[in-house]
Amino acid sequence: MKAAFLTGLREMEIRDTAPPKITDPHGVLLHVGVVGVCGSDVHYYTTGRIGTLVVKYPEWTGHECAGTVVAVGGEVKKLKVGQRVAVDPLITCGHCDQCLSGREHTCRNQAFLACPGQAPGALAEYLVMPDRSCYAIPDGMSTVEAAAVEPLSIGVYAQRLAGMQPGAKVAVLGAGPIGLCVLLASRAACECKVYATDLLDERLEVARRCGAAWTGNAKQIDVVRAIREIEPLGVDFVFECAGQQETLDQAIELLKPGGSLMMIGIPEVDRVSFSIHTLRRKEIRIQSHRRQNQCIAPAIELVAKGAIDIDPLVTHHFPLADTKQAFDLVADYRDGVVKAIVHVSE
Ligand SMILES: [Zn+2]
Ligand SMILES: [Zn+2]
Repeated sequence: MKAAFLTGLREMEIRDTAPPKITDPHGVLLHVGVVGVCGSDVHYYTTGRIGTLVVKYPEWTGHECAGTVVAVGGEVKKLKVGQRVAVDPLITCGHCDQCLSGREHTCRNQAFLACPGQAPGALAEYLVMPDRSCYAIPDGMSTVEAAAVEPLSIGVYAQRLAGMQPGAKVAVLGAGPIGLCVLLASRAACECKVYATDLLDERLEVARRCGAAWTGNAKQIDVVRAIREIEPLGVDFVFECAGQQETLDQAIELLKPGGSLMMIGIPEVDRVSFSIHTLRRKEIRIQSHRRQNQCIAPAIELVAKGAIDIDPLVTHHFPLADTKQAFDLVADYRDGVVKAIVHVSE
């Protein structure tokens, strides 16, 4: 089968490799349809690492995928050959304290697709996943929508963790794919007013189409001042989705006393800091965040029933042979790209 491999910094090759086989009775062999290019994939592509996870070349890539079941292991009950599925890229052990307490996302023995040394990547014609990572999608849902379910589930989970009430005033700092998914999930969950910021006008345009009431380009204006002019008391929730010290500082300034800072963005640095006295006087709740937990099925449901339209996020399409171009486009934030989709077999 053909698969994309990282072969060096900003280097990638489509190579022939042996297709995977089902070895576990709960295994599902998938013909991969489409794969969304994620910021984390691109991070490995351009820097060769995320934190302590370092790429060893050649390395698989891609994790936001959807495909069709072509074979199932003997113990698979919930899926049939021919069914289309959205894939949770997380493979859990099922027996550690975290798994047993319903926190599979912090499983102590987890593997994640295309994380160095953990599991193969989804940018391949075939992929084997455990049945519990595969979610059947309804006929009306496109495979592209199904591939977008994984990032959307992160937004749904962030929204649930926040515990937002109707009427909430919300700021989303960073309108990349995850920020936009948080925005979509928030708007779908309850009546709320969302202020969105970014450094790229094209993304703010998409944020407006996703339901932001107000947008501001932090390169051009003082977004804290602009939002505080409209909300002098501050906002209830800030979803920090850029992973920058600057946006964390903005978040603390924007929040009202008793407000919640949701730390969704992944910083490139090992440490961040806070203005501790502002934080303390306002008694701000800080909630960190790891991917998503049990939100794939709810995300599918939200798209299937039309409560969320993810189409505005999908801006570019590439065949497998041009995966490198897709990664370069996302890495360079060119051409208004939000989500680039690689069509592996569709
Ligand atoms: Zn991702
Ligand atoms: Zn576990």
